[in-house]
Parts: sequence; structure tokens; C-alpha cells
Amino acid sequence: MTIARLILLCVLLALVGFGLAVWQGVYRVPPAWNPWAPLDVQQPPNLLTGHKLRRLQDDPALCRLALDSAELRYTPMPDSLPDPTCPLTNTVRIEASALRFSAPFRATCSLAVAYALFETHDLRPAAEAHLGSPLVRLDHFGSFACRNIARSNRRSQHATANALDIAGFHLADGRRITVARHWSGDDPEARFLRAVRDGACRRFRATLGPDYNAAHHDHLHVDMGRFGICR
Ligand SMILES: [Zn+2]
Repeated sequence: MTIARLILLCVLLALVGFGLAVWQGVYRVPPAWNPWAPLDVQQPPNLLTGHKLRRLQDDPALCRLALDSAELRYTPMPDSLPDPTCPLTNTVRIEASALRFSAPFRATCSLAVAYALFETHDLRPAAEAHLGSPLVRLDHFGSFACRNIARSNRRSQHATANALDIAGFHLADGRRITVARHWSGDDPEARFLRAVRDGACRRFRATLGPDYNAAHHDHLHVDMGRFGICR
């Protein structure tokens, strides 16, 4: 038997042993590392977070479990069809989180979970790190709009409440940061906004800001559609 085969055999035996230990209940996989356990928004994201987020997209009950682990005040909304091309299914109305919002907004459950992950693990830490003050409020331009992508004949993710346009933030010390005014440059406000964009790229499927095109000069568009992009 070659060395390579011996190593492979040892790895296989170790995996079988580990599997048996889990099956027999000798060893319990922590929920954060169990791919079948619901996503817990409070836990630090790990290699399985993306998988869990994709899994709950088609499973309303699983999605609600994740949402209930988040620091969100929300109301589940009945499915509706405001327009035949803009179905609203498995959505919630988000009223508040650890932050206040410029207005409550409608969101698909998976967008709401991705937002909660983003706020908890990226947005609020970025404010503390770059601006030295907690965030108290997020301003947005809305989530649901039954329309196409600008200059295209494809429906926007906004048409199903699967996208949010983030415009700015209020800090506990009274400062107000907006994408429109503070994106450019290398001051703490600009560094904060770029950290926010990078954090959004980790949590949402698509994140588009001023670096993408002029239509996004004053907001960060985030969505949970199929098309992955980070600009
Ligand atoms: Zn948008």
C-alpha cells in the first residue's frame, strides 16, 4: 500500500469515526457548524452562513426561525399580488432593529435576514471602528417598487421587495453620513461608507453603489436576487 493510500484510508476512518460519534450523540456539532441547524443571526458568520442563507430562501418556516433570532421588530405580511408581474410572497414589514429607520419597509424574509446579519456584524461594527460612535438610525429610499431595472426591460429586485436602497446613517453623537455627500475622499466618513459597502457585499447577493454607475451616486442598492455582483 502506498503512503498516499494509507493517508486516504486514515482520513476515511477518521471521518467514519466522527460520523458515528455525531450519530450516537457522543459528539454534538455546535449549531453554527451544523448545516441543517437554523441560521442564528447573533452568531458570528462562518463558512456555513451563505449556505444557510440560500437554504432559507425557499423555506418560509426556516426563514422565520432565523428572523426571530435577529434584533428586529417586524410584522409578517400576507402574500399579495399588487401587479401580476410583482408578486409579494413570504415578506415582512420591518419596523425597527437596533436602529430606527427613516420609514418601515417591506422585505422578503431572506432580504430581512441578510439585512439583520449585515447590521449586526458589519454595519454597526464599522461605525464604531471608523467613526467612534454608535449608529442610531438608517435612512433608505425604499424597498418595494413595481418597476424594471433602469433602462432595461427586466424586472428589478425591487419589484418583489427583494432589494433595499440605503442612503445614509445617523450617529449617536449627532453626525449624519450620506452616500451622496461622503462617498468620495479618504476621511473617516468615506472609509466608513466603503467598509459598509464591503460588508454588504459579504451578506447580500448584489451590492451596487457609486462605484457602479451614476444612478447609484446617492445610495447603496442591496438585493437577494440570483445575480451576484459587488461594486
Ligand atoms: Zn435599488
